[in-house]
Amino acid sequence: MSGVTFNRNRIKLKKLMGIRARLVMLALLVVAPLMLDRVRTLENDRAKQIAQAAKEYANLTHHAAETQREVVSSVETMLKSAAYIRASGGIARSCEVLRASLPTNLPWIRSIMFVSADGLVQCSTLNIQVGLDLGDRSYFRKARQTGGFVFSDYLFGKTNGRPMMMAAYPVAAINPEHDAVVVAGINIDWLSQIMTNLGGRPGMSAVLVDSTGVVIAAPADHASLIGRSLDTVPLMAAIAEKALSFDEPSGSVSFTASDGTQRTLSFARIAGTQSRLIVSMDEAEVTAAINQAIRTAYLELAFACLFVLFGALVGAEKLIINPIELMTGMARRFGEGDWSARVVKHRLPSEFIPLARAFNTMAAQLSQRERELVATNDSLTVMASIDMLSGLGNRRGFQGRLDFEWMRAQQYGSELSLLMIDVDHFKLFNDTYGHPEGDACLARIGETLAGIAADTMGFAARYGGEEFCLLLPNTGPARALAIGETVRTAVLGLGLPHRTSSHAIVTVSVGVATGKPTDALRPGDLIEAADAALYAAKHRGRNAVVDHGFVQMVDEAGMALAS
Ligand code: GH3
Ligand code: MG
Ligand code: MG
Repeated sequence: MSGVTFNRNRIKLKKLMGIRARLVMLALLVVAPLMLDRVRTLENDRAKQIAQAAKEYANLTHHAAETQREVVSSVETMLKSAAYIRASGGIARSCEVLRASLPTNLPWIRSIMFVSADGLVQCSTLNIQVGLDLGDRSYFRKARQTGGFVFSDYLFGKTNGRPMMMAAYPVAAINPEHDAVVVAGINIDWLSQIMTNLGGRPGMSAVLVDSTGVVIAAPADHASLIGRSLDTVPLMAAIAEKALSFDEPSGSVSFTASDGTQRTLSFARIAGTQSRLIVSMDEAEVTAAINQAIRTAYLELAFACLFVLFGALVGAEKLIINPIELMTGMARRFGEGDWSARVVKHRLPSEFIPLARAFNTMAAQLSQRERELVATNDSLTVMASIDMLSGLGNRRGFQGRLDFEWMRAQQYGSELSLLMIDVDHFKLFNDTYGHPEGDACLARIGETLAGIAADTMGFAARYGGEEFCLLLPNTGPARALAIGETVRTAVLGLGLPHRTSSHAIVTVSVGVATGKPTDALRPGDLIEAADAALYAAKHRGRNAVVDHGFVQMVDEAGMALAS
């Protein structure tokens, strides 16, 4: 039982594993390692690209922070040199020198002013600022208290209300006898401009915040954030707490923000100030761009594989399946006996040409053999219907001819006669002259009957032993009786000696029957009638011809034929 199941499974598997499936498998085996290698490369690429992006962002942060530091240090340098100017002369002279010395290559310094110890602007590179009272500004007070360089938080200008930042440096740091403070207005637009390279990157936001977490500067695409507190900015709120809680001068950390996004945060304090540069990177968004590129590469890979598989299928179809189907079609036509079919060689790949040639040769040879076989068969059929001794048709031949003539006579409504001819006392002939002589006698009688058949358009046959018959189409009873008489006299005329016969020569008895074939009659009825007539002829003393009257008897009574 399990053996049967196993065999069935094997057959199913064989069907599934057709030549196409095998070629596709082969193509897959070839393509799979390349595909896997490509997938591995792509995955490596993804990891590399993500690492590179993180590194690039850290570098950008560092670079931007450096630039901001340079700005701050350039401001500090300017303020220190202004403090020297102030320390080295009276206020009028110092103001003159200050105005003349404001460099044009530091566009982020909007103005520089000398402020008295009580906070009044005594002199400024921007006239409008002279007379302003900065005594309430915390950076001013801090500078005086600490005696060092101070960078303010985000604030609004006293003259125009615009957002700005200020830097302050006490002249006392140069010469303790002076209590004035040098103050510079910082153009914060410039701080944003030098952050341009941090903008326009997907998933990345960069801001410069002051000590209170207010955004001082941002790249153009985040310009609207300037002046806002970091924790009120939707994108930044998630990281604000984290960003402001670091005490280290710089660093980076990866964490899950309160909005659930995975972020990498880089920050750097700007030396000499309370400001920090914060760069936040949404890892998912950054990797999304990389993933998109990787997905495209995977799609290309899938298309390449499909193309290879399709190519393998088309190639297999054209190079293997089609030729096989072509030759199968030829073999089928050969099987149906159409030997004229030939494989067209130019439609085949060169590897199949020897096979096609062998196929064509085989077809030609089989065709020739079939012709020979048909001829042999024909001659065998003829031989099977001929009696070798007499040269007449044998019983088989006679039966076939009787059926044919019966059918024809029935079709045309014509008469059909049959003569049954039996050699008289032939047993005695054999006993007297021997069997070979008996054969010779039968051969002579056969010849005689062949002659009569030819003359009467009849068909002569050896019915069996020493019994012959003569079938006479289109022959009525009278003519049949006459032909019977012709037969009898012809044999008599041969004058073959038969000393043990009462006639001293070989004689025959003839039974004659004539009928008109109908559906009610069979060919066998005609034989029986002729046989009955022959029997009667024997009873009459042999060497006689007796007509049975077959037609009348059947017509009149439909009764038994033998009498
Ligand atoms: P009847 O006149 O009643 O027909 O007597 P008969 O002797 O001819 O008839 P019977 O049926 O008694 O004998 C027929 C003989 O014919 C017997 C057989 O030896 C002989 N015979 C049959 N076929 C052949 C043959 O092919 N060759 C020879 N030599 N003799 C044959
Ligand atoms: Mg006989
Ligand atoms: Mg006989």
